[in-house]
Amino acid sequence: MALIRLDKKAYEHNLTLIASKAGGFDRIICVLKDNAYGHGDFLIAPLARSLGVKFVAFRNEDEALKFSDLFDNILILSHIPNSKENENFIYALNSKEHLYKYKSGTKLHIAIDTGMHRNGISLDDIAFIFKEAKNLGLDILGLFTHFASSDEYDASFFVQREKFRQAKKIAQSLSSKKLSFHSHNSSALFRSAFLDDDELCRVGLVQFGYCAFENSLKKVLSLYAHKLSQRILRKNEALGYGLRFFAKEDINIATYDLGYADGLFRYDASAQLLLANKKPILGKMSMDSFSWEDFGDELCVFDDVSSWAKFFNTIEYEILVKLNSKIKRVLS
Ligand SMILES: *Cc1c(COP(=O)(O)O)cnc(C)c1O
Repeated sequence: MALIRLDKKAYEHNLTLIASKAGGFDRIICVLKDNAYGHGDFLIAPLARSLGVKFVAFRNEDEALKFSDLFDNILILSHIPNSKENENFIYALNSKEHLYKYKSGTKLHIAIDTGMHRNGISLDDIAFIFKEAKNLGLDILGLFTHFASSDEYDASFFVQREKFRQAKKIAQSLSSKKLSFHSHNSSALFRSAFLDDDELCRVGLVQFGYCAFENSLKKVLSLYAHKLSQRILRKNEALGYGLRFFAKEDINIATYDLGYADGLFRYDASAQLLLANKKPILGKMSMDSFSWEDFGDELCVFDDVSSWAKFFNTIEYEILVKLNSKIKRVLS
């Protein structure tokens, strides 16, 4: 049975580093969307709580409901309003028109579009939003924005940060409450010299050990496969779909119990994809299995997804988040 192992100490190490950069655990919003980036939210959420995290963000209500007793504040990032909002959650206001579709009393953080143009409202609409929210009985508790290019050295980061600073001023002048503000995701936090005094950070991937701007992080997740069967592949015999691997000599091979149905990218054997021990997968990947030289009953597929991300021309996020939630996960 395939297995995901999560390294508790590595997670603690990363979170401590984030807290020291952000100015304390109170200033972290841990983004645990999409099964905590594929790691397993049922293990990561309680661990984050035990370390002192009190504010988390999820993609939707279904995710958040599982942990509503655990955290003081839960932000829902991608909710389409339906007038049935949960009074315990805070919802991201992603669009001006949504204002009229929330249940009265709903708590909101306004997404400000400072230049990414994915979600949010413009600076010009902030005053209007506060006025309408008051009439509609909606409770604006904060403001946030998201950077388009925080992972690259791109000037747009500074333009967006400046716009957000203006937005904070406008909003605070319109509200009698002390508003919450947050803008920095993982790479923004670690590329910046400091976080503005009035801000929280809103970090996802860096919790799990990946960030181009910080090299003392530790990887939290490793993936293991287990041996399903074994045989000797004789010289000149071929293996797997399309018979893409040929044995140049007799070799011991084994088939392991992980495939693209488990969320691994489908490897087509057109170039060499190496596993954790630097040996290549033999032949194409099947739906539920792949073959390898016989390395025993348990095999580490990866303990760092950077090389897989590079191989498949994608980002670490995608390799991690696609790991099927049905794979067994343990924390130790
Ligand atoms: C996913 C997400 C984050 C976290 O981003 P990381 O790069 O993983 O730190 C922050 N804010 C929003 C709005 C997101 O969608």
